Amino acid sequence: MSYLNRRVSNNRIKLKCFLSTNYSQIFLRFIFGCILLIGIIQSAAIQPQKISLYNENDKLYILSNKNFSIVYESPTAWLIEFYASWCGHCIHYTQTYREIAIDTYGWSSIVRIGAVNCYSPENEQLCTDHKINAYPTLRLFPPDTTFKSDKTVDIPVSDAKDVERSLINKLETLEDRQKYWPSLTSVSRIELSEFYTRASANTKLVVLVFEQKDDYIGRQLILDFSRYYDQLVIYRTTNMGKLWKKLHLSMQDAPSLYVVYRNLTIERLDDTVFPLDKDVGKRNLFNYALRTYIRKHPTLIQNYNDDDLEEIILRKKALKNKNEVVTATKQQKSINNESDIKKVYMLDMESGLDFMLRREICKINEINNDAYNALVKWLTVLVKYFPGREPVMTYLTRLLDEVKSQPNGFTGNEFRRMANRKTEDAYLPTYFQQWRHCAGSANQYRGYPCAVWLIFHSLTVGQVRFEEKKSVPSDKLDMIEVPLAIKNFIKYFFGCRECSDHFMKETVNVEDIQPNKYEAVLYLWNIHNRVNERLHGEISEDPLHPKLQFPPIPLCKQCHKLDKDDVTSFNKDRTIEFLLEFYSKDNIDSSNLTDFQQQSIRKLRSRQKWKQINENDGNINNIPDENSDNELSKYIKKSSLFGTTTMLLKHFKIYFIVTCFVFVIFLRYRFCKVKKKRYTL
Ligand SMILES: Cc1cc2nc3c(=O)[nH]c(=O)nc-3n(C[C@H](O)[C@H](O)[C@H](O)COP(=O)(O)OP(=O)(O)OC[C@H]3O[C@@H](n4cnc5c(N)ncnc54)[C@H](O)[C@@H]3O)c2cc1C
Repeated sequence: MSYLNRRVSNNRIKLKCFLSTNYSQIFLRFIFGCILLIGIIQSAAIQPQKISLYNENDKLYILSNKNFSIVYESPTAWLIEFYASWCGHCIHYTQTYREIAIDTYGWSSIVRIGAVNCYSPENEQLCTDHKINAYPTLRLFPPDTTFKSDKTVDIPVSDAKDVERSLINKLETLEDRQKYWPSLTSVSRIELSEFYTRASANTKLVVLVFEQKDDYIGRQLILDFSRYYDQLVIYRTTNMGKLWKKLHLSMQDAPSLYVVYRNLTIERLDDTVFPLDKDVGKRNLFNYALRTYIRKHPTLIQNYNDDDLEEIILRKKALKNKNEVVTATKQQKSINNESDIKKVYMLDMESGLDFMLRREICKINEINNDAYNALVKWLTVLVKYFPGREPVMTYLTRLLDEVKSQPNGFTGNEFRRMANRKTEDAYLPTYFQQWRHCAGSANQYRGYPCAVWLIFHSLTVGQVRFEEKKSVPSDKLDMIEVPLAIKNFIKYFFGCRECSDHFMKETVNVEDIQPNKYEAVLYLWNIHNRVNERLHGEISEDPLHPKLQFPPIPLCKQCHKLDKDDVTSFNKDRTIEFLLEFYSKDNIDSSNLTDFQQQSIRKLRSRQKWKQINENDGNINNIPDENSDNELSKYIKKSSLFGTTTMLLKHFKIYFIVTCFVFVIFLRYRFCKVKKKRYTL
């Protein structure tokens, strides 16, 4: 009996241990999986985000440094938009560029459409290589372009119609045309009999477009059907020559579309029909008329397929409607995050400075002459008036000294090296575009330009405080210094092309600023409010952070007054008081600044010192600071799987609990094994 009992109990324990062992193994794996996941999430959180203003639904290629090689030595030409997702004008331009991509969708055997976001850190070098100084830039890469080829041409940024026309003009005159490309040039003095004899032997269909000299319909149609270049030839004629007379055509018939038959007769195609909607433009009507003809004669063109074309044309119409809907819903929304608007955050300003000094200014190839002077003035006002932390101010001072020591100027890359230098007592942390107040509800909103405004305002207020300390008489004040430095910074370095142009117009009278203590503060406040007014309700406005007249009533009630006619306006005295207070050092919240860069630097420095001590036989002087940023990012990348030291500490509790769990499971597993062994014995 006791033997039987022992066996039953033995079996029970075996089963329990078996189950617990299996479960514990599964559980162990689960725990390790969790740890790995936390690490990955953390590493993802500190890696720069990939942002694009376009998505896979757009009829264009989203290019980056990873796939840009498809552009080099491509058999087709490429039209590429280099943009920055923070740039308001680029955000506005996306609709136009989408339209261009849709319009030129059928041209893909001749030219393909792509877009690169230069704001994405991974594309920084790509944009530098292509000398992109302003956004958006539209650049045409001819076929077979090689890396850093000088054959590329820029196309003026304009509305879809103008860009398409410029593109056609360039394609027409391009030296590096492919042999198989159809001719876009108008034919003249041609006999009807020559249409087929001029074309290749495979030609199944010849089409003729009569149009006026300035018309683009013929060329658009040639490109629309360029996929079938070996079977279909489209000629365009703009010349009132013999042929016109022979066919009894006059100017009133232009533009019109004809099929030319081998028996030397022609048939005019009906270009007034379009399914669903007629309001699609002459070019689409022509396109549809020719497609209808081809479909009616299915044996004419082999492998003919136009299934997607109607959908694309209608999509373009939908694009325009969508634009209106987006702006309409935006206006209904309001601020949802009031706590963040009451303070100025140093994180925003340092992050903005980091991007400005290490990326935005460096994109200029040669910083000399006027650009150099603008940079010196800009750094000077930063050193004098920026309300920064001590190490940041020391960093700025050293940067200014170094810039001043090279009066002949330098390249953007050389400036990047200077701006990347960090020492323990002089550094500007590297941020991966981290924002607090300036964080937008989506990637393309707010961020850098918001931080730029904050820096500007803090400088005008900083100057007031600076002058107050010196108690300079009012008429001796140089209140133009900061606005002029800002103006020239925007002129030479701010990438958003249209923003810069607008700002130049807004600041034409900068020299007229009166020598009054508060004049520069008011001047900038006014300009910013005018910009807010202009951009309110635009597609670049963050729907959750509408552009209001600043300061809005919830922020400063006293700043607003009611006039006799019940119209609210700003009370200037109260507004000045508010601005001085709002952008004062005391209202700048530095609490959320991360210090992991600082720690990493210390580690790096000690590692570098170690290396140097070994290399220089104990001499620790002249430790190179160059590329410390690259080293730093390498370090951050290396440690990012489980987060950096600070992050580890931050999540210490989680790690501790998880480790305890793992330990308990391990003990239980060991205990079961021992018990099992004892019973089997
Ligand atoms: C010089 C310059 C010119 C620009 N021009 C254009 C342009 O032409 N087209 C375009 O699409 N985008 C332009 N932008 C970008 C645009 O102005 C915004 O910066 C961007 O859309 C982000 O807006 P935001 O909601 O973060 O608020 P922002 O307008 O960037 O403001 C940032 C913060 O400044 C404070 N603030 C707002 N108004 C005032 C004020 N009057 N005085 C003091 N403080 C204020 C608020 O706290 C606000 O949150 C420009 C940016 C700059 C720096």
